[in-house]
Amino acid sequence: MNLILLGAPGAGKGTQRAFLVERYGIPVIATGDMLRDERKANTPLGRQVAPIMDRGDLVPDDLLIQIVRKRLQQPDTRRGFLLDGFPRTVAQASALDQILAEPGRAVDAVLYLRVSRQVLIDRLAHRYVCPTCGSVYTFQPGEVRQGPRCPKDGAQLYQRPDDRPQVVARRIDVFLQQTAPLIDYYARQGKLETIDGQLPVEQVRAAILRKLKTFEPAQDVTA
Ligand code: AMP
Repeated sequence: MNLILLGAPGAGKGTQRAFLVERYGIPVIATGDMLRDERKANTPLGRQVAPIMDRGDLVPDDLLIQIVRKRLQQPDTRRGFLLDGFPRTVAQASALDQILAEPGRAVDAVLYLRVSRQVLIDRLAHRYVCPTCGSVYTFQPGEVRQGPRCPKDGAQLYQRPDDRPQVVARRIDVFLQQTAPLIDYYARQGKLETIDGQLPVEQVRAAILRKLKTFEPAQDVTA
């Protein structure tokens, strides 16, 4: 299954992707994580994108398209993939259509997690990430103690620098201006599945599963 998770920063893409990967056995291609890895490794690309990411702006399309094209050539993506954070512009989406068309693939479904601006801002202010396993936790206001730790592996959680309030506002504006047109783009292709991302995590998960049921191969009832 070839899936795209679409949503503003803080819409819950990172939270939902773990179960999708487990259920469908497909690799995640998360461009934000890939760029953060480049920064951590201090590569020329990492150094080039650092100031752009820290401002909350988008990295140029051609760089991202090149990265994703290369990743989609890997054999593990043949059985499907989950894109998180890509495409973010119409130019990226049409490049993706072309990249996939070459070996006769296509996007199956785009899961759009819809969340209001205020909820996004509140969530990101209380969002923490585990440096070891990558799990994302959103605490309630007042729930965060000094130095919160990951319940899975005990690592000290951290807040992403681009989750600072000024940068968050910029990232949401960038989403509305440059990424929101993809809602129409995929609706016109008949691939858009809109999900209320403000529901509790388990309900969002259940809604995603219901939407994806139609894409799963029919069970053989005689077996
Ligand atoms: P994310 O972790 O998806 O929120 O991405 C973090 C940052 O990486 C974004 O704010 C952008 O600066 C950059 N980035 C990630 N994916 C893309 C993309 N598809 N196009 C342009 N910039 C991206």
